[in-house]
Amino acid sequence: MAEVSNGKYDREIITGLKKFFDGSVPQDMQGFYSQEELEAIKELEGTPRDLQARMPVKITRHYFEQAKNSKAIQTLVKASPKETYDLDGASDPGKQMSYSPVEGLIHKYELGLIYVAATCSAHCRFCYREELIAKKEVERPDGTVAPKGLAQIPEIVAYIREHNRLVDENGGRHPTTNRERLREILMSGGDPMVLGNKNIAQWLAALSEAGIENIRIGTKELAFYPERFDATFFAMLDSFHKSYPRASLRMMVHFNHPDEFLAKNPDGSYIPDAHAGFRWLPPTLAAVQALRSRHWINIDNQSPIISGINDDPDALRIMQRELKRNGVENHYFFCGRDIVGHKAFNVPIERAWQILNESQKGLSGVETHARLSITHYKGKTEVSAVTNEPFPGVKGGENGVVIFKLLRSAADARDRCKVTIVGRNPDAIWFGGYDDRVIMDEAELYSMYNIKPLALLAAE
Ligand code: SF4
Repeated sequence: MAEVSNGKYDREIITGLKKFFDGSVPQDMQGFYSQEELEAIKELEGTPRDLQARMPVKITRHYFEQAKNSKAIQTLVKASPKETYDLDGASDPGKQMSYSPVEGLIHKYELGLIYVAATCSAHCRFCYREELIAKKEVERPDGTVAPKGLAQIPEIVAYIREHNRLVDENGGRHPTTNRERLREILMSGGDPMVLGNKNIAQWLAALSEAGIENIRIGTKELAFYPERFDATFFAMLDSFHKSYPRASLRMMVHFNHPDEFLAKNPDGSYIPDAHAGFRWLPPTLAAVQALRSRHWINIDNQSPIISGINDDPDALRIMQRELKRNGVENHYFFCGRDIVGHKAFNVPIERAWQILNESQKGLSGVETHARLSITHYKGKTEVSAVTNEPFPGVKGGENGVVIFKLLRSAADARDRCKVTIVGRNPDAIWFGGYDDRVIMDEAELYSMYNIKPLALLAAE
């Protein structure tokens, strides 16, 4: 892969709000924040509710062009005082740091996640990685406090090799963690696509040499700057494939709303395509088609459901239909996390399920593959169903129930598909909202915190 070259890009990024405050942004960007909005933001500077300290502001020219005619995208990318009205929440509700054996690696399953970049081309205000991007200090399981560091190739390769060696010697399970082989790595951050091609190529080669079968690249670059998927990038990918033909690549893309990839009329409506569906933005479509033309690359979309951005069944229906029609799988929708500074974006769990369910009405079976996921400390969990009818004779089920299904357990893959049933609480935004109404807990989402089902409590 010696012939890999870096591309040259001009994302025309505006970082921070200074240029909006002093009017030095390009003329056409000057009204992006109203004077009133800028004053409200300025008032919070230097206080515990400082918006840029919570999450640095950043936007590309491409994303600005889409935001001009999209309330959803403006909410996604524009700083707003609403973000810090309520700063309740945990710093790490999924307790990710307790799954970090090496700096920059989260290892929970046969899939590991590595942080390879600490920024993206633009920044989503709802980001869950704001501690990495804003370089905040996080508490480690050993009590030390330090900013999150990025993964380094030698340490990650050594860890993968050693983990897999111990698994192989121990009959398929790691002797202390009980985990299986590390087969898959998600390159994340931040966004790996802000790195140069040479740097990405080094990671791809190193992970393949270490025995990783599937490499994922988690990216929102198709939304922020699709021109990044240029000839130099594809030449690098082709060179990688030539050198490592058995490794497959999974592009985990991140569209939140169809306004990020569909062309629009000035009145905000989408433009019908001559053949079917709607017309895409040309650079985004070209990038998707170039990815799809390589049989060893999969493209999957995943997106949280976020208040004011995509808590809209009609938008999600169009998004799922258009993505599938153009070869992008709908993988997961996520519930928001109960994370500090996230209240303005949270959609309650049951509402998120209803929005997704509503959005899938009228879609075909292959267009409705996406599931609603919420990440428990124990592992990835699906919000499988929310009933409207009461559960007759069952304490806690008077207003209906929510059924959680464990999709993956970090501790034991065999726990897959175990179920937990709780009584409904329309205000719940996280598992804790159901602590007082657990009905059945086969998946042990609550018993691991000594929270018992209501029937057992009543019998005591
Ligand atoms: S693209 Fe992802 S990591 Fe980057 S700011 Fe948005 S949510 Fe955060």
